[in-house]
Amino acid sequence: MNIQYVQGNPIFTAINKVPKQYPYLTEDLETDVIVIGGGVTGAIASYYFSENNINTVVLEKSRVGFGSSSVTTSLLQYELDQNLNVLTEAISVEDGIKAYKLGLKALKEIDNFIKKYGNNCDYEPKDTLLYTSQNIEKKEIYEEYKLRKENGLDVEFIDEKNNPFSFDLKAGVCSKLGGAQLDPYKYTHQLLDVACVNGVRVYENTEVVKINYEKEGVEVETNYGYKVKGKIIIVATGYDTRIFTNRNFGTMTTTFNIATKPIKNFNGWKNRVLIRDNSDPYNYLRTTGDNRIIIGGEDIEFRPQMLKEEVAYQKYSILENRLKAMFPKIKNVEIEFKYCGAFASTKDNLGFLGPDPNKKNLWYCLGYGANGILFAILGGMMLSKLFLGEKSEDLRLFKVDRFDN
Ligand SMILES: Cc1cc2nc3c(=O)[nH]c(=O)nc-3n(C[C@H](O)[C@H](O)[C@H](O)COP(=O)(O)OP(=O)(O)OC[C@H]3O[C@@H](n4cnc5c(N)ncnc54)[C@H](O)[C@@H]3O)c2cc1C
Repeated sequence: MNIQYVQGNPIFTAINKVPKQYPYLTEDLETDVIVIGGGVTGAIASYYFSENNINTVVLEKSRVGFGSSSVTTSLLQYELDQNLNVLTEAISVEDGIKAYKLGLKALKEIDNFIKKYGNNCDYEPKDTLLYTSQNIEKKEIYEEYKLRKENGLDVEFIDEKNNPFSFDLKAGVCSKLGGAQLDPYKYTHQLLDVACVNGVRVYENTEVVKINYEKEGVEVETNYGYKVKGKIIIVATGYDTRIFTNRNFGTMTTTFNIATKPIKNFNGWKNRVLIRDNSDPYNYLRTTGDNRIIIGGEDIEFRPQMLKEEVAYQKYSILENRLKAMFPKIKNVEIEFKYCGAFASTKDNLGFLGPDPNKKNLWYCLGYGANGILFAILGGMMLSKLFLGEKSEDLRLFKVDRFDN
């Protein structure tokens, strides 16, 4: 069954030219690691494996960066999608704080990458804001602030008295440089450029259709019959994992985004911080390198069939009204892009990184949950080291079978 993971007019593949095309596979190959999926996650994984001098091949069934990576808002934040005291059934506060700190480590990694290879992806470090406009949630936000503060995170509490934004805010936690934003399509290509210089071979229009698990390795068959042999495969296929496992990794929703045309002033939006409210489902906002605003949210249950246009248009219209109500001083707001697609959340808001419990040559790098790109970075770092025999204690948090039984 062909599942529709993205719908509408995605911003990032529309505002960018295709910087590079990769060939399709026309021969059999051997390598150490086969990364399946050429989205931002596959690009990150292949970059880290290549930085560790591990022979790597990337196979992408369509075009690089044209899957979910063409729509991700790429709100890169260390925090998770739910507050620590709400998450306690699925994760301890200690592990939650640990996940926050790993998020900061992943943000630092992106910063180092940009310093080393240049900023070709509109990367910008950012402060972040988590806020509520409901009196009833003030206490929860304050608790979240306190937990972060007590654990050494650089946060400030704001309320109605010192609200620097034009929208109604009863309580908020501002995290100093707690996030970043970038253009995920450009970032995917930049990572693959570097990976290719390191020796990675990338193939587009090359779908993996069958996997043969062998005693000491794995062989994948592709759509035109050519095969690639490797020691392991890394599943970086985003939300489509059906040919690898029956495992149900997360709860899928459809999330909606609209993006404006470039805007001249951002009155009422101090420092153009990354914004997330405390609603369920939450709304999220960022600006872009070319001065647009992206606002998202209004999530509904995901269905594999095409979503009816009128449902999507109703959601886009709610988002547009919300944006205009939050920032009445921003003039001439015109919406240019409207799109929606799948998003997967997990009980503890963390992704899945590591080997399959039953097949040692099948490894996953799945940025499900709150912070897809940051989890992919942690995956790239830890899985490349694991391949070399160095197991990180932190992989425990992302274990594939952690919710079994
Ligand atoms: C509107 C919207 C906003 C979002 N915002 C965020 C956000 O702010 N933060 C966040 O974490 N997530 C967000 N998401 C989810 C986000 O899109 C994903 O987390 C992220 O982009 C996934 O990247 P990926 O590389 O894992 O997947 P993809 O970009 O989908 O890449 C997977 C690739 O694998 C390829 N593939 C699949 N099967 C095969 C096969 N058999 N053989 C070869 N190739 C194959 C696909 O063609 C695809 O290119 C959002 C989603 C939507 C719809």
